[in-house]
Amino acid sequence: AAPVMTGARTIVFEPRYGEIDVPDLSVTDYLLENAHKFGDKPALIDGLSGRSIKYSELSTRIGSAAQTLVDRGFGPDKTLGIHLPNIPEYIVAFNAAGVAGGRVTTSSPLATASELAHQLRDSSTSTVVTLPAFRETVEAAAEEAGCVKEVAYVGEESGAFLFEDRGIEAKTIDSFKPDDCFALPYSSGTTGLPKGTMLSHRNLVANVQQIVQHPEHNLDMTESDVVLGLLPAYHIYAMTVVCQAALRQGASVVMLPKFEPQPFLEVLQKYGVTWAPLVPPLILFLAKHPVVDSADLSKLRVIFSGAAPLDAGTQSAVEKRLDVSVRQGYGMTELSPVSHFTHPKHNVSGSVGFLAPSCYSKIIDPDTKEELGYGEEGELCVKGPNVMLGYLNNDKATQETILPDGFLRTGDIARVEENGHTFIVDRLKELIKVKGMQVAPAELEGLILECPGVADAAVVPVLHERDGERPKAFVVRAEGEAGEAATEEAVRNAVASKTSAYKHLHEVVFIDHIPKSAAGKILRRMLRNLS
Ligand code: AMP
Repeated sequence: AAPVMTGARTIVFEPRYGEIDVPDLSVTDYLLENAHKFGDKPALIDGLSGRSIKYSELSTRIGSAAQTLVDRGFGPDKTLGIHLPNIPEYIVAFNAAGVAGGRVTTSSPLATASELAHQLRDSSTSTVVTLPAFRETVEAAAEEAGCVKEVAYVGEESGAFLFEDRGIEAKTIDSFKPDDCFALPYSSGTTGLPKGTMLSHRNLVANVQQIVQHPEHNLDMTESDVVLGLLPAYHIYAMTVVCQAALRQGASVVMLPKFEPQPFLEVLQKYGVTWAPLVPPLILFLAKHPVVDSADLSKLRVIFSGAAPLDAGTQSAVEKRLDVSVRQGYGMTELSPVSHFTHPKHNVSGSVGFLAPSCYSKIIDPDTKEELGYGEEGELCVKGPNVMLGYLNNDKATQETILPDGFLRTGDIARVEENGHTFIVDRLKELIKVKGMQVAPAELEGLILECPGVADAAVVPVLHERDGERPKAFVVRAEGEAGEAATEEAVRNAVASKTSAYKHLHEVVFIDHIPKSAAGKILRRMLRNLS
């Protein structure tokens, strides 16, 4: 398609490498299309125990679990909740839900009971798959949510039903349609609380195609690769890049449930990891930590960075130290997630690269909504087959996020140069990113406002050397004696008692009033500048 011109200006930026086709397959039928070619090669390896699932076993493991779910009443319009760390069974449960025609919602294994309850209730989850270690959290969350009928514990009798290989091949139910909603990861988007992001089978299949299929612009992930599965699979980055793209390509995926320096380095060496999707704090560790000198990482050839900005100095330090190629991607949950990624032959420091095939972008003035041209900074909007269906049960948020012409507002400020390089320069939206994980200010503000003695509150990001950003709270005390209850400790506890550790407040500052616009919107930029 020719660029759309107004006067002399290009206002719709095109993918440099054109279009890719998107097959009308379910996520699992697409994933398994090539699996037979890879035979007895391990598809998934548990990095800690060495336990594995072979490519030749994938179809019957998934198909059996799907049939078991169907036998127990699961199917279209039902939601399976996966509350698991990265273990091979994750992939079985995830795909089984789709084969059975249902949906899957994925939650952080670090979530507290109240965080999990919000997600389970909002997504009407009927069955949860988890580990015995999370029993207390999941039972409390299930009770609070009220909609959960069954909890399957992996490794226990109650969970065995899901993972028994009954020899049934995976075949997605006949009523399946590519545009059916399949995955519901939670994201706060540009504003407010975490929302169910409705991704269809087509969205997810498209995004894998967009990152693997083009002969010139792709993530360079092949059948010979050993891919690290350390990033949490509940988040869209690993859901697409690790759980789908790597397996579609026939790589072996080594699952690792959490980051600890020694086991991390041991797993990289022991399995000869060649391709590592990471977030900037982990790349900083590889670039700077002395213990890395004692590890033989000679097999590692690609480090992929996403989910947060990568510092150019860290990138060149790790490239030099480990002799690897560092690639960067940009995206968001609502884009399934990848919309931009770098090209190894056109690497420009600080750029997130070119548009993925089949993705188009626009830059708009955040105030006037005027469409801007090359070199001008404004809000990045993206269109393509990877744009979400919308937010679950929240048409208002969907309409605010997806423009009438199909472009999705990212809430990020960017600039596109004439050679197609895109630079993310700032964040317009409220979102705080701690180690690449989302922290929604609205969620923390709600908890602080419940604290006795607090009259008003606003939470903004503060830069942090290792974690990228951390949340900082500005709090206004109620007048007179009533306000005395609002101590720093009470405010910190209000957040810490209900949320995962990465959301805990880094700093609490008391002020006289929260700056707001005439319409009552918190002037976050002003607060950020006070930091
Ligand atoms: P999530 O939905 O959790 O993937 O978060 C998406 C947001 O993370 C984006 O809107 C950006 O603000 C940020 N982000 C993701 N990738 C990058 C990147 N490569 N550079 C800068 N920010 C990024």
